[in-house]
Amino acid sequence: MINLVIKKKPSSKFVLIKVFIFTICISLLIKAAVSQATVVRSQEKKEKSNLFVQQISQMNSDNESLRLKNKNLRTSMKQNQILYREKLANTKIAYLTFDDGPSNNTLEILKILKKYNIKATFFVNGHPELGYLYKHISDDGHILANHTYSHEYKDVYTSADNFKKDVSKLDAFLTNITGKEPNHILRYPGGSNNTVSQYYGGKGIMDTMIKETNKEGYIYFDWNVDSTDASSYRQSKNKIVQAVLTESSRTKHPVVLMHDLNPKITTVQALPEIIEGLKKKGFIFDVLSENTYAPQFKVAT
Ligand SMILES: [Zn+2]
Repeated sequence: MINLVIKKKPSSKFVLIKVFIFTICISLLIKAAVSQATVVRSQEKKEKSNLFVQQISQMNSDNESLRLKNKNLRTSMKQNQILYREKLANTKIAYLTFDDGPSNNTLEILKILKKYNIKATFFVNGHPELGYLYKHISDDGHILANHTYSHEYKDVYTSADNFKKDVSKLDAFLTNITGKEPNHILRYPGGSNNTVSQYYGGKGIMDTMIKETNKEGYIYFDWNVDSTDASSYRQSKNKIVQAVLTESSRTKHPVVLMHDLNPKITTVQALPEIIEGLKKKGFIFDVLSENTYAPQFKVAT
């Protein structure tokens, strides 16, 4: 008799149970792995977050110390500024200014200023044929300031736009010669209180002009001491000296108006006496700058 071993086919129920158990095992393994990964991730996250918090707190503390340093610096700057202003207000400083140049007299004026080691401010116009004189003024350490290129009332005072164009033209002209940036120090031809401008630009033209040029960052300077050298074609030397010395006694910061024009020979002759007289009165000399007290006849409203 053939001994047949009949392998009993596993029942489908048994297979199902095996599959079920297998599935549970796999899912438990996955769950464990996921949970492990989550723990690792959350630890990493926590570490990162801690690091981030530390960095933020370090930045905050750095910011705070910078803010404090800035505050201290601002306070000390303010105090220094106050001290500087007080010192400046109490120091007798004369500002010699020469308008309308350069001219045939410029070299002589420069020679005298050099002799006394004094710096001055030249409110110049545009004379292309005299390029070397602008360079000379600038190289000697004086200030070239803007008095418009043309100085022609009928051109510059017709409108604020025309005025600005003329001023820019001189700035470009000076920069081209000296290689220096314009300093935005300005004197209106005839002064800010001139009335002739109304004839060309109408009433209120100076107000408009001042507002417009102020907006462009220009600071304008009139004067508080008139040398009177423009009162006549050739004012006497003594009258010029007397006018400057008498007027300068009334202020700690005289801004002296003089002219650098061909006919103004007596201005040149008066200059050494003016300098010596002012020195005797205790004045030192400086150039005009953005920080200087600016006498202004007319302030735009
Ligand atoms: Zn002038």
